[in-house]
Amino acid sequence: MSKGIILLSGGLDSLVSLGVGIEEYNIKLALTFDYGQKSAMQEKNASKAICDYYKIQHKVIKLDWLKDITHTSLVSDDKLPEGLNNPEISAKSVWVPNRNGLFLNIAGSFADGEGYDYILIGANKEEGMTFPDNTEDFIKRVNAEFEYSTRKKPEVIAPLINFDKNDIVKQALKYAVPLELTRSCYAGGEKHCGKCESCLRLKNALLKNGCENYIEVLF
Ligand SMILES: [Zn+2]
Repeated sequence: MSKGIILLSGGLDSLVSLGVGIEEYNIKLALTFDYGQKSAMQEKNASKAICDYYKIQHKVIKLDWLKDITHTSLVSDDKLPEGLNNPEISAKSVWVPNRNGLFLNIAGSFADGEGYDYILIGANKEEGMTFPDNTEDFIKRVNAEFEYSTRKKPEVIAPLINFDKNDIVKQALKYAVPLELTRSCYAGGEKHCGKCESCLRLKNALLKNGCENYIEVLF
């Protein structure tokens, strides 16, 4: 029987990708990456709770060296940008070198070594406007790469690739995804900061869908 891996940060996009795809792609394993980002602890805790909820295996992969080769605000002491900025500023400020490429290739090794057929990623239309490694083109090219770099040839699937955040929350409601478990903030506080770009996108989408109840829990 085919089975799949999910790249899980615990953020809205990866959580909803899991909720939408868990049955169709028989997701059995979630990989969460700790690369020294400000919110690493919160992301690991959220991902663990999400895996417990869906009863799938959870693995944390440590990438200690990644923060040493970049100074973007996700990992450095620099202040995170606040508000919704233009894509160029955002991408530059929170860019982590080859992050999705690296994560997908690590998942590709798990797939190749342990016989997984699918790798799910939360790439979507809204993030794709800012980050080129969140686009359909990128996913296609990684799939082409796996034809050569793996024997298993796992398929990367992005169930949310045509959706913006508003649609993603709609999908979450449709699939009864436990949104109270998400952690979508770039900062490291106990609750969502409500000021960073990731928080604002989440908050706006929740508001548009009448989900004030989740806003109360998360912020
Ligand atoms: Zn935040």
